[in-house]
Amino acid sequence: MNSDLQKILVDEQTILNRIDELAGQINSDYAHLESIVIVSILKGAFMFTSDLLKRINVPHVVDFMALSTYGAESKVSGEVRVIMDLRHPVQNQHVLIVEDILDTGLTLQFLERILQTRNVASLKTCVLTQKEGKENNLINIDYLGFTIPDVWVVGYGLDYADKHRTLPYIAELKPEVYT
Ligand code: 5GP
Repeated sequence: MNSDLQKILVDEQTILNRIDELAGQINSDYAHLESIVIVSILKGAFMFTSDLLKRINVPHVVDFMALSTYGAESKVSGEVRVIMDLRHPVQNQHVLIVEDILDTGLTLQFLERILQTRNVASLKTCVLTQKEGKENNLINIDYLGFTIPDVWVVGYGLDYADKHRTLPYIAELKPEVYT
């Protein structure tokens, strides 16, 4: 294991097993719809989106958005930037947001607000991980993969300074690397 890493929190097989379950729930909940739009948030959710969508049998299109939060201080004030917007309109579409991790919830709250103004038919969220003790009222997660400890995690799409993003598991970064 890379020396930046403290320990593996969720191994690859556990992630894939849980994604099977989430996909099963999504397939059943959306079974009655003709099609849905998956909105995947770059970069962090790219691996999760890929493994999840291989298992979704409801007709769907996938589109991508890239968001960025300003530095830690601005994040408190809720400042989020759209780096890349969706390619296609989502008006009257059933939208499922696929996101990597929920910490304060500000990023997802911002995104939900934007998509609501575009008059979607419905909006749900599928989030791979949520940090323990960070559950809040900002966001209602419809499909959650795992609750994880409140530490900095990398792997399975998540990075630290653009490193460790392509690891097949979710690992805790050593605190001395990011403090
Ligand atoms: P929130 O707005 O919920 O506080 O933060 C969500 C965003 O912060 C995520 O989309 C992700 O980009 C980043 N983030 C929060 N916690 C972590 C973490 O432990 N590891 C990584 N790699 N990104 C995180």
